[in-house]
Amino acid sequence: MTRGVLVTGASRGIGRAVAEAFAKAGDRVAVHYNSAARQAGEVAGALHGDGHVVVQADLADAAAVRRAVDTAAERLGRLDVLVNNAGVYLAHPPLSTSYEQWQEVWSATLATNLTGAANATFCAVPHLSAAGGGTIVNVSSRGAFRGEPDHPAYGASKAALNGFGQSMALALAPQHISVATVAPGFVDTDMAREILDGPQGEAIRQQSPFGRVARPEEVAAAVLWLASPEAVFASGTIIDVNGASYLRS
Ligand code: NAD
Repeated sequence: MTRGVLVTGASRGIGRAVAEAFAKAGDRVAVHYNSAARQAGEVAGALHGDGHVVVQADLADAAAVRRAVDTAAERLGRLDVLVNNAGVYLAHPPLSTSYEQWQEVWSATLATNLTGAANATFCAVPHLSAAGGGTIVNVSSRGAFRGEPDHPAYGASKAALNGFGQSMALALAPQHISVATVAPGFVDTDMAREILDGPQGEAIRQQSPFGRVARPEEVAAAVLWLASPEAVFASGTIIDVNGASYLRS
């Protein structure tokens, strides 16, 4: 029996690379998207193997999240892995943002990056339990540790996601569900494109002694390993994928 894997935000970027990595490993993937229906269909259609599906939800909409998770489990026949990948990176520099904008960004960021992942997790647990156990992998960020001066809600949402994942690792182990986190530094995707192509781009690449940012496939490889049976005992961990650009002790 191949595994059923739900990847949120998989129409592009890291989510797409994660979907491709699981499909290549022989798993069946539910490619989740919010508004990019055509791209999600193209991603699912191009995946290795058969049985992949597409599910839609705005992660900020709790009812839609439940529908998408249940639909993914039903159409895949089972759910073994949830990858909470979808996220937003909205700028709101504290010294130049209006109070209205500040509130909007906090609300939108937490709704997707934190509560969306928490709700997807809640809805996935019964399906993972029904499959005899499984894995949840959260895609966090280096910013949780290093700080995000122009994106403080993002940094806070990812720090909270780390704490959420560790709490859930404790809570779900009795159900044979492992919960782990990857924390990438900058990754070459649309989310970071403007910054990486802008005046700060070269300085950001030089933050790593490799002189570059991560490729989405490098993050996907870590996610795939964390979801492997060999990695069950890594439950609760947070793996840095940042090219030694930020070393925490
Ligand atoms: P991306 O913008 O290409 O992909 C993010 C995905 O999330 C998109 O498919 C988007 O549609 C989806 N999404 C956003 N809001 C949503 C919502 N409300 N409902 C449903 N889907 C929603 O960016 P990416 O670089 O592939 O990012 C993937 C994850 O990696 C994010 O959680 C991001 O925070 C994290 N990350 C990215 C970088 C980077 O430099 N690119 C660095 C560290 C962490």
